[in-house]
Amino acid sequence: MSAVQNVGVVGAGVSGLAAAILLAEAGIRVVVYEAKPDLGTLGSGITLQGNALRALDRLGVWDQVRRRSYSFDVTGIRAPGPEAPLVAEMHDNAMGGPDYPATAGMYRPDLAEILLARARAVGAVVRSGTRVTALVQDDDAVTLDLATAGGPDRATHDLVVGADGLNSTVRELIGIATRPEPNGMGIFRAFVRRPAGADHTELVFGGPSYIAGFCPTGEDTMYAYLVEDKQDRQGLTPAEGSRLMAELARPYGAHWNDIRAQLERGAEHVHYTWFTSHLVPAPWNRGRVVVIGDAAHSCPPTVAQGAAQAVEDAVVLGDVLARHDRLADALWTEFHERRVPRAAAVVEVSDQIASWLLAHERGDVPGLHRTISDLVSREP
Ligand SMILES: Cc1cc2nc3c(=O)[nH]c(=O)nc-3n(C[C@H](O)[C@H](O)[C@H](O)COP(=O)(O)OP(=O)(O)OC[C@H]3O[C@@H](n4cnc5c(N)ncnc54)[C@H](O)[C@@H]3O)c2cc1C
Repeated sequence: MSAVQNVGVVGAGVSGLAAAILLAEAGIRVVVYEAKPDLGTLGSGITLQGNALRALDRLGVWDQVRRRSYSFDVTGIRAPGPEAPLVAEMHDNAMGGPDYPATAGMYRPDLAEILLARARAVGAVVRSGTRVTALVQDDDAVTLDLATAGGPDRATHDLVVGADGLNSTVRELIGIATRPEPNGMGIFRAFVRRPAGADHTELVFGGPSYIAGFCPTGEDTMYAYLVEDKQDRQGLTPAEGSRLMAELARPYGAHWNDIRAQLERGAEHVHYTWFTSHLVPAPWNRGRVVVIGDAAHSCPPTVAQGAAQAVEDAVVLGDVLARHDRLADALWTEFHERRVPRAAAVVEVSDQIASWLLAHERGDVPGLHRTISDLVSREP
């Protein structure tokens, strides 16, 4: 008998939907509350490493993810400049084991659509346009206050999972003071047509941006990104974003010539955001409420593990809830022992690599990538 029978999940991002899928599959009643009225995710692409693919397989969506993503196992490093000479080609470790490619690039809205459909198929109820605004809990239950288009509402659950992202309301409501802090970097990302021959991630370190990179996401698509010192670029129109990104991309050659030409013509999906970092120290729960995913930890995507760690949080939470018969200390101790050191290592390494970039220092980046690769290759 599972420790809980009726769970409320706040947020329909990757961590919330992953938790909903696993709990619903275990026969638990699950309601997901999502503030956005429209469940379609905005965004460009995402890099999913083997451990993320292995976790997505646990959710029963690997076949669909494989079909709608682009797999590869090499990362190219080029020098800045018009010639953009290839400096190295590194074989990516298959962190999910031999059954999965080392890396898959994917269009974020496709991943969101697959997870949402799976959550509904296994019986989770997803309520969009429903924002959690307050909660109270006692020894037996948690009651949520909900703001909906039809007026205020209430719901009671055995457990509430706060998967509500960086600016988590649930984290605040349970009195956790840790907040994401900007790390000083900002990133432009554009979803563009994939130039012929751009069949794996390539990174350029240096030039006017810290990193110029891209990741294929399909036969004809990829996302490209430029990392710079953070700027106030709020409210950019797509046309302005595209023009600014094209300007920043000017010193980069090879496939960037094609990407830049697309940006100059005006790319539709250009996003700008700042990198943040935080780690909620254990415990991530207060009584019957727990935070996971970006609500609990964030970091610059220098090792591309944010969503992977978010899904792993859900996998481990689902596992401990299914194997323990009471929501007691033993369950939370196991959850935190399996999750917090691993998420902490990813945050620490990601921050370290970003700090070296910010300071223009040459640190042992390959060594840190190896540390994370060894760690996340193990089952969470
Ligand atoms: C620039 C950038 C690039 C990245 N690249 C990668 C990458 O390549 N690979 C990788 O693995 N990770 C990457 N990440 C990290 C990854 O995007 C995140 O870790 C992941 O999306 C977190 O998912 P989540 O479900 O925890 O949060 P979110 O995706 O933020 O979902 C939270 C949801 O909660 C909802 N919500 C918020 N408040 C409420 C409320 N009060 N009531 C109801 N709903 C609410 C929101 O609307 C949202 O839908 C990147 C991050 C950034 C910033």
